[in-house]
Amino acid sequence: MNPHYATLFEPVKIGPVTTANRFYQVPHASGMTEANPHTRAAFRATKAEGGWGVVSTGAVSTHPSSDDSPLPFARLWDDRDIRAHALSCDAIHRHGALAAVELWHGGAAVMNRFSRLAPYSPSGIPWLPTHVGFMGNQRPRIMDADDIRDVINWQVEAAKRARSAGFDIVYIYAGMGYLGYEFLLEEYNQRNDAYGGSVENRVRLVRELIEATKEAVGESCGVALRISLEELRARASEHYASAAHEVVSLLADLPDLWDVKMDSSPTDCGASRFREEAAHETVIDFVKQLTDRPVVGVGRFTSPDTMVSQIKRGILDLIGGARPSIADPFLPNKILEGREDEIRECIGCNICISSWHDGVPVRCTQNATAGEEWRSNWHPEVFSKAGSDDRILIVGGGPAGLEAGLIAARRGYQVTIADKARDLGGRLLFEARLPGLDAWRRMIDYRLYALRQMGNVDLYTESKLDGDQILELEHQRVAIATGAHWTRALYSPLEIPAGELDVAGVFTPDDIAGGVVPQGPLLVYDFDNYYLGGVLAEFLALQGITVSYATPAGHASAWTFMTNEQPFVHLALHRCGVEITTLALLQDFNGEEAKLSNVFTGHPQTIAARSVVIVGHRLPNQNLYQSLIARNDECEAAGIKSVGCIGDALAAGALVHAVHSGHRFARRLDGPEKERRLRDRPL
Ligand code: ADP
Ligand code: SF4
Repeated sequence: MNPHYATLFEPVKIGPVTTANRFYQVPHASGMTEANPHTRAAFRATKAEGGWGVVSTGAVSTHPSSDDSPLPFARLWDDRDIRAHALSCDAIHRHGALAAVELWHGGAAVMNRFSRLAPYSPSGIPWLPTHVGFMGNQRPRIMDADDIRDVINWQVEAAKRARSAGFDIVYIYAGMGYLGYEFLLEEYNQRNDAYGGSVENRVRLVRELIEATKEAVGESCGVALRISLEELRARASEHYASAAHEVVSLLADLPDLWDVKMDSSPTDCGASRFREEAAHETVIDFVKQLTDRPVVGVGRFTSPDTMVSQIKRGILDLIGGARPSIADPFLPNKILEGREDEIRECIGCNICISSWHDGVPVRCTQNATAGEEWRSNWHPEVFSKAGSDDRILIVGGGPAGLEAGLIAARRGYQVTIADKARDLGGRLLFEARLPGLDAWRRMIDYRLYALRQMGNVDLYTESKLDGDQILELEHQRVAIATGAHWTRALYSPLEIPAGELDVAGVFTPDDIAGGVVPQGPLLVYDFDNYYLGGVLAEFLALQGITVSYATPAGHASAWTFMTNEQPFVHLALHRCGVEITTLALLQDFNGEEAKLSNVFTGHPQTIAARSVVIVGHRLPNQNLYQSLIARNDECEAAGIKSVGCIGDALAAGALVHAVHSGHRFARRLDGPEKERRLRDRPL
């Protein structure tokens, strides 16, 4: 290990328990819940194996009045919930880490859609009803004194169950709009009893939750407070530097650990496109000055130098990681073993959080094994030995091809990757140059660095391959990873494909990636709805072109709501002067103006445009694959045992899908015909 990093491996005492090091996997959603107990245990345990000193759950509800359905959350509602959590605790303990449980009451920020109990709140004020993500038609009740006592009792009962399950650290949650946090803010807390009014009163519920939890389990478990400080830090206080200083001072040494964070998912779990590593520091930097208890915080830390700096400068005691621990569960061990160059750094794309929004187990763009540890028996660092001497040819060195090649090589196969382009990286070579997306380059860098260390890999660029050449190359397994292409296709108002808009001045993202600079004024018409349409509009506007953006969706880059980017996309487009038209279907373009119609009313609208970039429909590049399949006999004669198609060449999707597809191809080489895909069940 680089001695400079030794401080990261010092133990830290958290109440009655002690972590082996400063790497702390803070609570984060896994989308797994009790429905998938083995999946969850394996996912969390892999991080413990990779060296994280503490491994936490995601939100664990204390009572049916905290029900976030259909979003996935876990429960400790009664004793029958203990067993599934014990499975995770045991798995985490086997690797020497501490297990932490994020007990949680959602207050007015949950809709109790399943339990149908009226949500709890300090004063009946709904949490963010105007925000699309919180939209619902349920409004909260005003808690009376009995309700407050109940909430504290539920926390205590859940804490005892947590201890029985084997957890070492138990949380009180006062962040992200959930119940404890709602009591802190006077706009949500308008009570005139002992729990409202002065800051001291507004802190009372959190104080009592901590005190009751400590009394119940404090002898054996550390008791942590997770709190959001962004809004409070921005507020004045009569006697303190800010309202956040006041709240922290009032509770100072009461919890055994402070877990400090931002207030909303888009700022707490900010995408790298809009937020740098360690972006939380300006909000949470004061906490350590006001408490003797250890402080943990996050910041998408992947650089050990940044981590050490956080410790040395007295910002944090423990390096919190959620996304970095998903992208590389072995991050701590790689630093410990002096292999920090091998860290698979999180790219900050937030596909992981989109999995939670989708209600499914976590997916990760960088780490295809996330969520597959149990189901597919994929370990991020361990690979079964090659089952033959077959040589593997991968045609196309984009994310899918690089991942397939890397995993096959790690298994010991002789691998060749050939790409027609001047550099390896596929679509990322262009996309990582777009505004804010430079961290995405880590996908290429990580894989190329690893591939170049290996003696069993040949990398070829400027090597466009056709069927004849592949037949001559004497490789027994071929994977076609030739990507996809954007089309000029449009859809009718009835959402039926309406053919291509094949007129001069209409471009696709492939044209822009190829260096075309369209004439302005330019319309970017986006019904892909992920990042590319929005970021291309920004990219082109920053070059001085007059750009407008239209979409049939209700927001610009509407799907980026799933990745916490959406609010900032609108801001970015606004800042570079891009006018946004929503609910608009592109119908026609004549070189001077684009004709659109409202998706609901059909009302026509024109936008002045000399060119149009359509970011819509993508189709796989399958010519090469299909031509080889059609030459089955010749393939056999040439000794080719199989031809696979992976990544966008199989099905055009997001980067996460391409990497997963490449990974799966390599894992399956010489494996049984029937793939292992275990089905998890509640215990
Ligand atoms: P994916 O996301 O599935 O990896 P990409 O579009 O990022 O797809 O990458 C596909 C890669 O395939 C590109 O780098 C492209 O240059 C390369 N490619 C496409 N056709 C050929 C071919 N016939 N021979 C070699 N490389 C090819
Ligand atoms: Fe990081 Fe993206 Fe993986 Fe999430 S999905 S951990 S943001 S690389």
